[in-house]
Amino acid sequence: MSGNSLARSIFPKVRISAGRRPYHHARRVKGSFYKERALGGALTYHFETRYTSNPMTSFADDAHDLIAGYRRFRQGKYPEAASLFRTLKDNQTPATMIIACADSRADPSMIFDAAPGELFVVRNVGALVPPFDETPGLHGVSAALEFAVTSLKVRQILVMGHGGCGGMAACLAAETHQPVGHFIAPWVEIASSVRKTVIEDTTIPETDRLEAIEHGAVGLSLENLLTFPFVRDAVANRRLSLDGAWFSIGRGELHWRNRTTGRFETVMAEVPSVR
Ligand SMILES: [Zn+2]
Repeated sequence: MSGNSLARSIFPKVRISAGRRPYHHARRVKGSFYKERALGGALTYHFETRYTSNPMTSFADDAHDLIAGYRRFRQGKYPEAASLFRTLKDNQTPATMIIACADSRADPSMIFDAAPGELFVVRNVGALVPPFDETPGLHGVSAALEFAVTSLKVRQILVMGHGGCGGMAACLAAETHQPVGHFIAPWVEIASSVRKTVIEDTTIPETDRLEAIEHGAVGLSLENLLTFPFVRDAVANRRLSLDGAWFSIGRGELHWRNRTTGRFETVMAEVPSVR
């Protein structure tokens, strides 16, 4: 079994129902499609009971739930994942970088059903990319971007915002002179131009402003990516593509940003049947 095939079999899509069911998966891997039937035609889904509406509140008190989660990992997914981890131990070659929000509810690895080694992920408040800035400072996002593009040579970067984003809500709140936090307020000011545009757009009802700024901030971050010379060069030479997306937490729905129109379009959750 190849590394990718193994990865698919041990990190299946999350399903709530228990038991064994037929499992087919068609997926683009390094420019080609392959289809597989894992574990002899059926796949046992582990940890269905993990996905409940009850958060692990004891994280706040001690490490009990973290240790318990680690033990589930070691007993459940890890035995089958061990050879994949051994393959990955000295090197990573992810083709995709994702810049997402730190929000606990919008996890790129889960949303994109990705295995270790497949996604290079940077998460921060608001899924924001700052503009290229060479002044001295601690440029965490820029460092990750530099590594992803110049060393890992990722072929695509996805900026993914999400619904109900606290970071974008903080940006919006600053307009009414309620800056949030010592570090948060100046950070989310990256999207201040989007806030201005959204507030001045009289066609956007006040209740829709948050989602509008979440969408707009994705577009702004894509623009900011192009202010980095190494990103601009890679895009110009067709070695790198940039895209945006937005995830609805309540609906579990991914919306993809149209590169031409900048509008967000719902991604069909099922593969359309071919007639
Ligand atoms: Zn957020």
